[in-house]
Amino acid sequence: MRKLLLNEFVLGLELKIIEDDLLLIGMPDPTQQKKKEDKADKYIPMRSSDGKYFIPGSSLKGVLRSRAEYIANIIHQGNGVCHIFDQRKKSEAHLPGRLCCGDRFEIRLKDAEKNQKTLPYATFYADACPACQLFGHSSFQGRLSVTDFPALDSDSGKPFSQTHIAVDRLTAGAAQSKLFTPKYLRDAVFKGSIHIQNFSIWQLGWLGFVLQDLREGLIRLGRKQTSGYGKLAIQKETVRFRYLGKPPTEEKLWGIGKYLNDEWIKQYGYGNGLAYESIDLPGAQWSTPDHLWYEYSAEAPPEPLPLWENARSAAYHYLQSFKFTPDMQLKSLQELWDRQREAAR
Ligand SMILES: [Zn+2]
Repeated sequence: MRKLLLNEFVLGLELKIIEDDLLLIGMPDPTQQKKKEDKADKYIPMRSSDGKYFIPGSSLKGVLRSRAEYIANIIHQGNGVCHIFDQRKKSEAHLPGRLCCGDRFEIRLKDAEKNQKTLPYATFYADACPACQLFGHSSFQGRLSVTDFPALDSDSGKPFSQTHIAVDRLTAGAAQSKLFTPKYLRDAVFKGSIHIQNFSIWQLGWLGFVLQDLREGLIRLGRKQTSGYGKLAIQKETVRFRYLGKPPTEEKLWGIGKYLNDEWIKQYGYGNGLAYESIDLPGAQWSTPDHLWYEYSAEAPPEPLPLWENARSAAYHYLQSFKFTPDMQLKSLQELWDRQREAAR
């Protein structure tokens, strides 16, 4: 099903910088002369070619991933996901105690190539940790993508300068030459969407946990978060599901497993009940504008939709029972790694 879209979830969001808060997501100010000591302090908010301020989708995806990993590690006491920054050092004989999926697959790929083989595409999904299944790793794009979030209109968002004082480390006084003035943004509403293609119910539930944290103000975006900046609130939330073909039951939402044949279920690792996962979607009415795709959409202000609640237990169960397959475990990878280092000598 590499190039096949069988179901899709689209979450439309309007994100608002909360009152009196500031957001600093920027690029280096091109009008400022580049000096070595300037470092990253001179930033201006990002603007698209039509003049609207925007939050890049990649920044938002990074923030969502990091919060999702944090949640998974609470649920599974530190073993819920790999961590993308845990990488092997080519010079070291022992692999680190934690290793990101991308590096694990690279060691396996190198071994397969030595035997003139390759890894089947489905393996990059089936054997990855939950975070890499949803957000991707170096050999797999991931199921979730985030669009850029432009401001609602070109009047939305006011740049705001605030001078910070850098403290001189020797005298503990303000360093005159080190005053810097980043430009923040306030009073802006951004609009964009999060997509999960070929989704599983546990993936919706996991995103549901992250959204709950966003609603509670626990997620910040951009620079200077430790100074209390970058708090966003959800102003509007819409969901849309679509399926290729009629849903088997109208008031239920099914994960991708329901739409796969036995061969795919095996290849992509949708066994263990994942082929039959579903949640209740009371009162759902599906439309089929083109008689091919079946769509259901709903708007959810100000209360969060019950579907998040319903999907969360699937996420909890999946994340809690996650375990790397034998081929991905450090013990077998260390053996391959030893052989590869030996051969390189
Ligand atoms: Zn991973």
